[in-house]
Amino acid sequence: MRSVPFFNYPALFCKQEADFQTIFSDVGRRGAFIKQRDLADFEKSLASLLGVSYALGVGNATDGLEVALRAAGIGEGDEIIVSSHTMLATAVAAHFAGGKPIPVECGADHLIDPSAVEAAVSSRTRVIMPTQLNGRTCNMDALGRIADKHHLLIVEDAAQALGARYKGCCAGTFGVSAAISFYPAKVLGCLGDGGALVTNDTEVYERAAELCDFGRNHNGNVVRWGFNSRLDNLQAAFLDFQLRKYGDVISRRRRIAALYTQYLKDVKEIVLPPAPESDPDHFDIYQNYEIEAEERDQLRKYLRDVGVGTLVQWGGKAIHHMKALGFTQHLPYTDWMFDRLLMLPMNMSLSDDDVCYVCDNIRSFYGYGQ
Ligand SMILES: *Cc1c(COP(=O)(O)O)cnc(C)c1O
Repeated sequence: MRSVPFFNYPALFCKQEADFQTIFSDVGRRGAFIKQRDLADFEKSLASLLGVSYALGVGNATDGLEVALRAAGIGEGDEIIVSSHTMLATAVAAHFAGGKPIPVECGADHLIDPSAVEAAVSSRTRVIMPTQLNGRTCNMDALGRIADKHHLLIVEDAAQALGARYKGCCAGTFGVSAAISFYPAKVLGCLGDGGALVTNDTEVYERAAELCDFGRNHNGNVVRWGFNSRLDNLQAAFLDFQLRKYGDVISRRRRIAALYTQYLKDVKEIVLPPAPESDPDHFDIYQNYEIEAEERDQLRKYLRDVGVGTLVQWGGKAIHHMKALGFTQHLPYTDWMFDRLLMLPMNMSLSDDDVCYVCDNIRSFYGYGQ
C-alpha cells in the first residue's frame, strides 16, 4: 500500500540537507545570529518579490499581525472584522493589540464574505482583517469599496498567501500592512518559527520596527514601549535560499491542483477549489487544497485506511466556535461549511502518482470508476 502523508516535515529538511548544512556553517562561523546581513538580504528579496517598499522579519506571523495593528494605531475597544474561517492567530492578534475581533461568515470560496463584512460594520469598526486563505486572495475590490465607504483600514492576514495575486497585485499589498508566515508547513517554510510584516507606509514600517526591537529606533534611542520579536538571522538565511526557487515551488503546486481537477472534476459529491487557470482575476499558490465533501468524516477514515493523510483545518473549529473566548456570533453558513471541509495532501513531496492514488481512492469511495 502506498503511503501519502498529509505533510512530510522531515522532507522539508532532508531534500535540501546539504544546502542547509552549508548555510548553517556559514552563518555559524560568522557568528551572525541576530539582525545580520542575511536578514537584511531576505527582507530585501521579499519586498521586491511582493512589490512593496518594506519587509520586516518578525518572530512569527501572529506577532506580525499584532504589530501591524498596533503600528496602524489600533487601540482599546476598536472592532476588527475577521473571517470565522481563519486561524485563531488572526483573532489573537486583534485581541492583544487591544482590539475586539468580530468574526463573520465565509463565502462559497471559503474566504471572508464581503457582504457579511458590510453587515458587521459598526460605529466602533476600525479595521477589516481579511485572511488570504489557502493561498488565494479575497475579492479585494469589494473589500476595498467597503473600507473606503466606512473609512476603515485593511490589514491582511497573508500568512498563507506569499505570491498569491488578485488582478495582478500580490496578497499583502492591498491594505496598510500585512503579515506572512514562514511556519514550516507554509509554502515558504523555515526550520522553526518565522514571519514578516510588509507595508508600503514608511511611518508604519518604522513604528513596527521599533515595536519589535524594544521600542528602539534606527539610532538606538528608545522612543516607545516595545517588545522583542525578530526573525532569526539563520532562519532568514534558510528562507532567502529557498526564495530563489520559489517560482518553481508555486508552479509545482499549481500543477498538482490541475491534476486534482483533472481526476476529480466529475465527482458530484465533492466541490474542488478553483483550477489554476479558471479565473483571470486570481493567481492562487495553493497553500492548501481544501475541498468540500459529502460524508466528509467517512471519506477521511476511508482515505486513512488506504494510507492517505488528510486534515480538517483548525481542527474543525471556526473562530466563533471558541466560546471560552467570549464569542457569541451565530454563523450558520460557516457551520454548514465546517461539516464539509477537508484538506487533501498538497506539498512538494507529492509525486503525480501520489495524486493519482489519492484521487482513485476518492473515486472508489463514492462509487466512481477509475
Ligand atoms: C499559519 C497562520 C498564522 C500564524 O502564523 P505563525 O507564523 O505560526 O504565527 C496566521 N494566520 C493564518 C491564516 C495562518 O495560516
